Amino acid sequence: MSKRFTWLKKFAWWLALGLVFCLTPVQAAYLNGQSYVPLADWARVNGLKCYWLERGDKIVATNRTTQLVFDKDSRMVGVNGINVALSFPVASDHGALLIAQLDINTAIRPLLFPARPADARRITTICLDPGHGGKDTGNHTFWHSEKTYTLALALELRDQLQKAGFNVILTRSKDAYVELPERPAMANRRGADLFVSLHFNATPTGKNEVEGPQTYCITPVGASSTDAQGEGANFGPTAANRVEQRSLLLAYQVQRSLVKNLGANDRGVRRARYWVLRDATMPAILIEGGYMTHPLESKKIYNAAYRHQMAQAVLKGILAYQKLTSAAVPTPLPATNRPADG
Ligand SMILES: [Zn+2]
Repeated sequence: MSKRFTWLKKFAWWLALGLVFCLTPVQAAYLNGQSYVPLADWARVNGLKCYWLERGDKIVATNRTTQLVFDKDSRMVGVNGINVALSFPVASDHGALLIAQLDINTAIRPLLFPARPADARRITTICLDPGHGGKDTGNHTFWHSEKTYTLALALELRDQLQKAGFNVILTRSKDAYVELPERPAMANRRGADLFVSLHFNATPTGKNEVEGPQTYCITPVGASSTDAQGEGANFGPTAANRVEQRSLLLAYQVQRSLVKNLGANDRGVRRARYWVLRDATMPAILIEGGYMTHPLESKKIYNAAYRHQMAQAVLKGILAYQKLTSAAVPTPLPATNRPADG
C-alpha cells in the first residue's frame, strides 16, 4: 500500500469526522471551569419559547408571564426588564448561546419557579441595618456623609413597615458605630425573618455619570462576587447560602420595585459576600439606594420626600416577596397530613 493512499485515507477520515462534528447539534460544554448547556434547549425543556433579538448575540426566552433576555459574553440577564447578575458570562458555541448550569440553578430557576420553602411562615419581624455610623461615615461627598442618610432612610422605612403591621429591629437607631459581624448577629439572635441593609453608593473616582439603585444578595457557592473587590470562587459556603434562593427573590422584588416606583436607572441585582450578608441565617439583602456622586441623584438622596418614596418602594418589594413565598403552590400532601390554611 502506497504512502499516498494511507495519507488519503487519513484525510477522508478527518473530513468525515469534521462533517459529523459540524452537523451535530450543540451539546453541553465545559467552559470557564463550568458545565454549560445550550440556552435554546434549556428553554424548550422548561416550556419557554426562544427567538433571536440579534442573531448570534441576543436571545429571548419567554412564556406567558416571563421574558428573559440573554446577551453573548454578558454576566447580566434581563428578567422581566430587571437586570440580574449571573455568576458566569453567557457563552457562544457554533452560533448558539450557552448558559452555565450553576446560573440556571442559582439565578434563573429561583426567580422563574420560586419554591415555597418547607418552613414557610408569615414574615413578622424585619431587621433594618442602617449602613455605617459613628466613626465610620461611609461615603463622603462635600458635607454629606452616607451614615446620615442610611439612618434617615431606615427610620422612614421602620415607620412604614410598622404601619404595615411588621415588627422592626434596628441595628442602630442613632449615630453609633456597630461592628459589621454584630449586625447580622443581632438579626439572628432576635429571630428576624428578613434582614435589609441600607447604603448609598459612590464611584471610587468620583466620576459623576453613574446613577441608580442596585440590590445585593449572597454569592452562590463556587462563584465570584459581582463587585470589583469580589472574592474568588473558592470562598466556600456561608450561613447565608442555606437561604440564598429566597434572598435572591427578595433582592429581585425590591430592586424591581425601586426601579419601577422611583423611575430610576436599573443597576441590577448583584451578588456579594459582604460581612452583613454572609452571616445572616434569614433572607438578607443589601440595598445601594443610589449614587452620592451623581449630581441629580445625590440631591434626591438628601431629600426627605424622595427617601419617603424610596421607603415605600422597599416596602412594596417586601410585600411582593411575601405574596410570592406564601402564595406559591404548596407541594401536595396526603389529605390527612394537610396543614390548616393560615
Ligand atoms: Zn455603605
